[in-house]
Amino acid sequence: MTLADRHGRVATDLRVSLTDRCNLRCAYCMPAEGLDWLPSPTLLTDDEVIRLIRVAVSRLGITEVRFTGGEPLLRRGLVDIVRAVAELTPRPSTMLTTNGIGLDKTAPTLAAAGLDRVNVSLDTLDPDRFAALTHRKRHADVLAGLAAAARAGLVPVKMNAVLLRGLNDDEAVPLLRFALEHGYELRFIEQMPLDAGHTWRREEMVTGEEILARLRSAFDLVPDPAERGGAPAETWLVDGHHGLDGRPAKVGVIASVSRPFCGACDRTRLTADGAVRSCLFSQEETDLRGALRAGASDDDVAELWRKAMWAKPAGHGIDDPKFLQPARPMSAIGG
Ligand code: SAM
Repeated sequence: MTLADRHGRVATDLRVSLTDRCNLRCAYCMPAEGLDWLPSPTLLTDDEVIRLIRVAVSRLGITEVRFTGGEPLLRRGLVDIVRAVAELTPRPSTMLTTNGIGLDKTAPTLAAAGLDRVNVSLDTLDPDRFAALTHRKRHADVLAGLAAAARAGLVPVKMNAVLLRGLNDDEAVPLLRFALEHGYELRFIEQMPLDAGHTWRREEMVTGEEILARLRSAFDLVPDPAERGGAPAETWLVDGHHGLDGRPAKVGVIASVSRPFCGACDRTRLTADGAVRSCLFSQEETDLRGALRAGASDDDVAELWRKAMWAKPAGHGIDDPKFLQPARPMSAIGG
C-alpha cells in the first residue's frame, strides 16, 4: 500500500509533530502570551507515536521521518522515539526541525540514537532582534545548538530563516555569509498564512524573488543541477564557496506562496494529538488516535491513513479568493 492521492502524487515524507508547545514566541507563528496547549490526555504517548510511524514505514511506503512541533526538543521521549524509528526496517531517514535551544546538550545523544540530520531555525544574527522577534533572549543558545549539531555529525546542518518586512529583511546577505562561514546550508522560507493571530498579509510578505535579488547583490548564484524531486526548496550553488564536506555550498528558497510546489508534494503530516493532515493548509483531518485507542489493528490504521491521503487537495489554494487559513496554527500542525 502507498499513500497515493487522486492527483497522482505519492507521499513518502512524514512530518511528525511531537508537541504543540514551544519555548519561543516567533511573531509569525505564536502570540507572545502563548496558546492554549493541547490537553495531555489527547497527546499521543511515545508508544502510540512509534506505532503510527512503524505503520507508516512498514505498510505505507514512508522513507523519511522528520520530527517537528512546536519545539520537538521539549518532548521528553524524543531520544527514545528517534531510536525506535531508526531501528525500523526498512530504516527511514530521520530528521529534526528545531529552534536549537538545548541542542548543545542533546545533539550527541540524538546522533547516537540514530538521528541523521537537523534543520535549525534562525532568523537573525542580532541578539536584540532575536529577542524582539521571539520574545525570548535565547540567541546564544541557538548558535550553540547549531555548532553542537555540526560537531555531532548531524550534517548537512541546515538553517531555516523567515524574513519579515521591516524587521529582519535586511539580513538575507549577512545570514548567508554566516551560514557559509560555518558550513551550514541556509534556506529562506516565505512567510505563510499560518500565524495564530491571522495577521499575515500577502503584500507585506518578503518574496523568494526579492530574497534572491538581495543575495545576488553579493553572491554569484548558479541554479543547482541536482534533481529537486519533492523538495520544498529551490536551491542554488553559491559560486566559489564550499561546505564543510568540500562540496559546493548551496542556498535554498522555499517559496511556498509565490512559487507553490504542490504538484510535487510528497508529504503527509501527523499532529501531536494524532491527526493526519494531507496538507499544511488542510481544513480536514483524520483522527488516528481515536482509532488506536478504540483497538484498531495496524491494517485498520493504515487504511484510514491511506484514505486521508487519497483526498489530498491538488494545491494549498492560498491564491483562491475562498482561501481559509486552517484553524490550527503552524505550531500545532508541525512545520
Ligand atoms: N520549533 C521548531 C523550529 O523552530 O524549527 C519546529 C517547528 S517550526 C513551526 C518549523 C519551521 O516553521 C520554522 O523554521 C519556522 O520558522 C517556520 N514557520 C513557522 N511559522 C511560519 C510561517 N507562518 N510561515 C513560514 N514559516 C513558518
